[in-house]
Amino acid sequence: MDIQKACDAFRCLLEEQLRRAQNMNQEKTDFSQKESITIGIIDGDGIGPVIMSQAVRVLEKLLQPQISAGKIILKKIEGLTIENRMALSQAVPEDVLTQIKTCDVLLKGPTTTPMGGNMESANVTLRRELDLYANIRPVSIPEENIQWIFFRENTEGEYVLGSRGVELPGLAMDFKVTTDAGTRRIAQAAFQYAKNNGKNRVSIVTKANIMKKTDGKFTAICHEVAKDYPDISVDDWYIDIMTANLVNPAIRNQFQVVLLPNLYGDIITDEAAQLQGGVGTAGSANVGDRYAMFEAIHGSAPRLMEEGLGDYADPRSILQATAMLLRHILCTDAAQTLENALQTQQETVDVTKGITCQSYTDALLKLL
Ligand code: NAD
Repeated sequence: MDIQKACDAFRCLLEEQLRRAQNMNQEKTDFSQKESITIGIIDGDGIGPVIMSQAVRVLEKLLQPQISAGKIILKKIEGLTIENRMALSQAVPEDVLTQIKTCDVLLKGPTTTPMGGNMESANVTLRRELDLYANIRPVSIPEENIQWIFFRENTEGEYVLGSRGVELPGLAMDFKVTTDAGTRRIAQAAFQYAKNNGKNRVSIVTKANIMKKTDGKFTAICHEVAKDYPDISVDDWYIDIMTANLVNPAIRNQFQVVLLPNLYGDIITDEAAQLQGGVGTAGSANVGDRYAMFEAIHGSAPRLMEEGLGDYADPRSILQATAMLLRHILCTDAAQTLENALQTQQETVDVTKGITCQSYTDALLKLL
């Protein structure tokens, strides 16, 4: 690619991103008014099918009356596998996306993304195609009175053009995108959550001292939104010190709602999940106005599969996500039942004790 071609490509990206920012408002799905709700079930790769088969058992048990009455439909969606995606050179094959769009919400196993090359992450594609702008990740450490909830912007930042950077001989350049509209809606989601859930503090995390334009805008818009929530205090942190704060027992239990751009949110929520007990324990919601997708915080764990330990994948992450899904579609009692059971059950998956993903779930089902 020569400089002229790179400039032409950049112009297209600018035009496309401006168009995206102008078309963000969608009508919100009101689950209280829906006669039936379709939950798309996507297995994913690696340990995905192992943990997803257990999540489906739990959903079938908890939602048995609604499923029998046709009020909730579990719809299995095939074809979002790394083999199929590679064969078709599509991050999300068109026929799979068409099926996905017939659902209201999705429960999705982790999907593998090849390192390098041009294949976009299936998640990035789905977040963009379904406009799932809020990535919401709760983390709790009860013994320290920690209840964090992270609101990560999910459709912009380094990810939206992550596979569309430019490369010239001896130089590579990627792009980071922040828009007013994209920032405003994630900030509103975070502040509104705080207001509705009795939280009085929102912490904004950026690197606005270095990324002056993009993170500078993110911070400024978040503070604009904060003016509508005078009872909620706001503080600003840089991502580097925030990663240290999370491992500082002297202050970490003071954080409540954390609001961040895409990449920082991706990284710091893995750190937070590890502090909670491992990435196998944390659920993640990707919420937009029309659609929502729920998944484990972690990836497809290829090394676990290579070592023949796939049956010992921890299902708690996808089960936490299942509880979030149930809450989202207003099945509040079922969500509470599952959350209580996850808290009550002491024994976790353990290769030394022979407790597999399936036997963990067998025991959990008895508590539901
Ligand atoms: P990973 O999350 O798959 O694994 C990190 C570590 O955590 C590994 O040691 C793994 O064995 C362990 N682990 C993860 N989930 C576990 C579980 N449920 N039980 C027990 N141990 C578990 O991260 P990675 O190795 O960096 O990524 C692997 C692949 O997953 C990559 O292709 C990546 O792009 C993809 N990925 C997908 C998603 C998603 O679909 N949402 C998220 C992150 C990574």
